[in-house]
Amino acid sequence: MSGAKFIEVSPWISAPIDLQPPLQGRISADVAIVGGGYTGLATALELRARGVDAVIVERDTCGHGASGRNAGHLTPTIGKDFPSLVKAVGRDRAVAFARFADKAVRHTEQLMRRLNIDCEYNPTGNIVTGLHPAHREPLERGAELAGSLGVEVSFLDESAVRDRRLPGHVRFGVLERCGGHLHPGKYVMGLRAAALAAGIRIFENSAVTKIEDSRNPIAVHTATGTVQAEKLVIATNAYTPSTLGRLKSKIFPLRVTLFQTGILTDAQWDRIGWDGREGLYTAHEAMENYRPHADGRISGGSKFIQYGYGSSLAPGYLPDTFAEWEKLFALRFPELPDVRIESFWGGWIGMTLDFLPINQANARRTVFHGLGYNGHGIAQASYAGTMLADQILGVPNADVDLLRRRTFPLPPEPLRWLAVKALTSSLERVDRKIDADLAAGHR
Ligand SMILES: Cc1cc2nc3c(=O)[nH]c(=O)nc-3n(C[C@H](O)[C@H](O)[C@H](O)COP(=O)(O)OP(=O)(O)OC[C@H]3O[C@@H](n4cnc5c(N)ncnc54)[C@H](O)[C@@H]3O)c2cc1C
Repeated sequence: MSGAKFIEVSPWISAPIDLQPPLQGRISADVAIVGGGYTGLATALELRARGVDAVIVERDTCGHGASGRNAGHLTPTIGKDFPSLVKAVGRDRAVAFARFADKAVRHTEQLMRRLNIDCEYNPTGNIVTGLHPAHREPLERGAELAGSLGVEVSFLDESAVRDRRLPGHVRFGVLERCGGHLHPGKYVMGLRAAALAAGIRIFENSAVTKIEDSRNPIAVHTATGTVQAEKLVIATNAYTPSTLGRLKSKIFPLRVTLFQTGILTDAQWDRIGWDGREGLYTAHEAMENYRPHADGRISGGSKFIQYGYGSSLAPGYLPDTFAEWEKLFALRFPELPDVRIESFWGGWIGMTLDFLPINQANARRTVFHGLGYNGHGIAQASYAGTMLADQILGVPNADVDLLRRRTFPLPPEPLRWLAVKALTSSLERVDRKIDADLAAGHR
């Protein structure tokens, strides 16, 4: 590895100066929330606004999971892609899901405004970029179909791409007008600060080791304390430890690696163009994402994904993947031969088999789950807070109804490993041919 450093969590967050105490002894609350990422914090805030006393029990510090590590694209993407979603659920439901995803983005924008969170949000929209002729037909067809059904997207042809002075690897693309990009660490720490200001009790360095949810009240145990509560929210998504025996049949974790460059000079920015500073993700089956930062860096990643046998969360120091990324960055940004990747990190995303999120209660309506955002959780996890609060308080919510569906349980190992491998290999196979062409200079 060429001098780039590996960061265990991410460059976006560091230990908070107002670290919250671990859970000690026995306490009571209306609702216990396990996990202090976007889902847990947004749920606690929403419940608090409605007069409900919720406490958060977080294993590390808030934002230690995906919420403090992600790429920061605030996106209305839902499902694998829009044409596949239409095929899977039909036109009407696909449009309803697209509206739900737009609403989740708008909700997140409002939340940032209402709570006065400065997280460098730039509402540029995001562009799904086509790099190769094979990307054209699916992008054009997808944009046409989505546009005709009222989804906020438009196709950018070669001249529109030139007018925007997008980086040279972009030939054409689809602009998602709703959303943009933000600083994920500032966003999650802003939610945490708002929760503390609202008087929400947060316990950090408090790993939940056991849950007793068949009794009333429910008991949530850590090594040093217990929360007793009428209701429980599981907001641990991909970071759910197997020892809790939860969610295993609903989601599988995939490891995604991200990087950031050093700060570009004005001359380097001028060379690359990218005047609108839009978030970009490629139309590959396993996409690459790139985005500019307020401080003048570029960050990016995804594409090379890992699954750990048994849904284990294996360590993320992956020198081979880092080397692949250094090669790929040079290939995608030939305008910037003098810009280096400075650091790598990564995290686990919670995937579902149908690429749709889950927002569910148990039959007794005492345990609630918000999870499985398939890499689009900045908006969907933020909005999940409102959906979970509605479910907890018995308030009807059409979006909860929309997400209610039969999900097939994931098979146990070794079948699960084989199924995930088959899925990821088929995605890689399609991309490999396109990338070989691009590397050979054919466009
Ligand atoms: C590398 C990467 C890039 C991504 N890029 C994007 C993007 O560009 N756009 C986008 O929309 N989404 C993106 N995502 C997805 C997004 O970050 C997640 O969907 C979202 O953060 C999920 O939030 P959450 O609160 O549900 O889970 P998390 O943020 O993962 O929070 C779960 C929390 O549970 C805690 N926990 C786990 N076990 C226990 C326990 N036993 N006791 C107590 N606490 C526990 C963890 O410490 C963690 O803080 C990305 C994710 C990753 C990993």
